[in-house]
Amino acid sequence: MSRTRCSVKRCFTDPGPISTAGLAATWVPVLHSSAARRGAPGTRASQMTNKFRTLDDVDVKGKRVLLRVDLNVPMENGRVTDATRLERVAPTISEISDKGGKVILLAHFGRPKGRDAKDSLKPVAEALSKVVKKPVAFADDCIGEPAAQAVAGLKDGDILCLENTRFHKEEEKNDPAFVAELAKLGDIWVNDAFSAAHRAHASTEGLGHKLPAYAGRTMQAELDALEKALGSPTKPVIAIIGGAKVSTKIDLLENLVTKVDALVIGGGMANTFLHAQGVAIGKSLAEKDLAPTALRILEKANAANCAIILPVDATVAYHFAANAPAHAYGLDAIPADGMILDVGPQSVARVHAAIDDAATLVWNGPLGAFELQPFDRGTVAAAKHAAERTKAKKLISIAGGGDTVAALNQAHVAGDFTYVSTAGGAFLEWMEGKPLPGVEVLRTK
Ligand code: ATP
Repeated sequence: MSRTRCSVKRCFTDPGPISTAGLAATWVPVLHSSAARRGAPGTRASQMTNKFRTLDDVDVKGKRVLLRVDLNVPMENGRVTDATRLERVAPTISEISDKGGKVILLAHFGRPKGRDAKDSLKPVAEALSKVVKKPVAFADDCIGEPAAQAVAGLKDGDILCLENTRFHKEEEKNDPAFVAELAKLGDIWVNDAFSAAHRAHASTEGLGHKLPAYAGRTMQAELDALEKALGSPTKPVIAIIGGAKVSTKIDLLENLVTKVDALVIGGGMANTFLHAQGVAIGKSLAEKDLAPTALRILEKANAANCAIILPVDATVAYHFAANAPAHAYGLDAIPADGMILDVGPQSVARVHAAIDDAATLVWNGPLGAFELQPFDRGTVAAAKHAAERTKAKKLISIAGGGDTVAALNQAHVAGDFTYVSTAGGAFLEWMEGKPLPGVEVLRTK
C-alpha cells in the first residue's frame, strides 16, 4: 500500500472528493411508488391479507396440544451454548401450559440419518426446563408406545418433549402413515417454528392437514413482521441486500426489485454488478460469469421503477485479514491488485440518505466483510443509522439471515430494530416470494 495512494485524497482517514464519474445512473435518489406492482390479485401480497388461526382462536384447556417448535440450538459437549431459540418459543409453551393445555413438543435436531444419540433432544429439554421454569418431561421416541404412554400420563398444564422427529426418515418425507402416528398423540397442532416452515415435513406441514391448526406466538410475531416488511408495508420500502455472492440471492434480488421502491446492493455481490457495468474491480470477490444475470436484474429493476443503489466508492485492502491497511477509492481508481472489502464512506452516506427517504426497511446480508475490522464500518454505520431512525419512529426495520443478525449484534443494535428474524432459510425463501408450506397450511380458507 503506497503512501501515494493516500496522497491522492482517497484514503480512508481523508476521503476527500471521490470521483463517481460514469456512475450517476446507479444512484436514483427519488423513491418511486408503484401500487400496480404490489398487491395484485393472486400474488402473495394479496394472499397476505388472509388470516391465520392463532392461540386466540382456541380454548386449549384439557387439550393435548402438539406444539412444533424450533429446538435446533447450538450445543457443545452436550450443553446448550446459546438459548436464544429456547427463549423465543418459551412464551407459547408457557401460555398453553398456564391455560391448562397439555404441551407436547415436537422438534428436529441436526440432520441425523436414523437414530443417533448425539442428536437426542434430551439435553435440550433439560435446558428448556430452565428457561420456562417448569419441569419438561421427555419421551424416548416421538411415536409408538414410549410417546403414547408419556402423553397418557400428562396432566393439564404439563410439558412433554418428544424425541427428535428426524430419527424417523418418514418425517422429512411427510409420510402419511407417520403423520397419522403423530396425529394420534394430539387434539390440535400449533406451529411455532417459522424457521422450519419452508420444509413440508410431517411435523411442520403434514399435521396441519390432520388436526385443527394454529400459529403459535413466535410464528404469529414473525408473520406480523414479514407482513409489515413486504406484505402490505408502509411505503416507500427500501431493501438492503449484501453478502458474499449473487448466485445465492438471484431469486431474492429478482423478487425484491418488483416489490420495493429502492434496493441497496452491497457486500461482495455488489462487485459482480460493478464488474457487469464495466468497473475495474481488481482482485475483489466477484462472480464474473454472472454479469449477464446482474444486468438482467438491473433491467428488471428499471422496468419496475425500483431505484438501484450500488456503491460509488469502496474500501480496499490487499489482504483478506483483520486490520489489513485499508483505503477508500473512487470506482474509477480501484487498484488492480486490491480487493474491495467494504463500501466506502460516500456510499455509506448515500445508504443513510436512502434510509432517511424510506418508511420501511428490509435487510439481508452485510455490506462488507464485517467479521474483519475495519471492514465492518459500512455495515455497522448503516445498521446504527437504521436503528436511530427506528427509535425515532420514522422507520419500520426488519432484518434476517445468520450473518446479518451477527452483524447487527456486532453493531449493538439488534434490539433497536423493529424485528430481527433468526429464521435463516425460511426468511430468505419468504423474501424470495416463495410460499412456505408450514405457513400456507395455517391460513384460514
Ligand atoms: P446467512 O447466509 O447466514 O443467512 P447472510 O445472508 O446475512 O447470512 P451471506 O450471504 O452469507 O449473508 O454473506 C455474508 C458473508 O459475505 C460474510 O462472511 C462476509 O464476510 C462476506 N462478504 C461481504 N462483503 C464481502 C466482500 N466485499 N468481499 C468478500 N466477502 C464479503
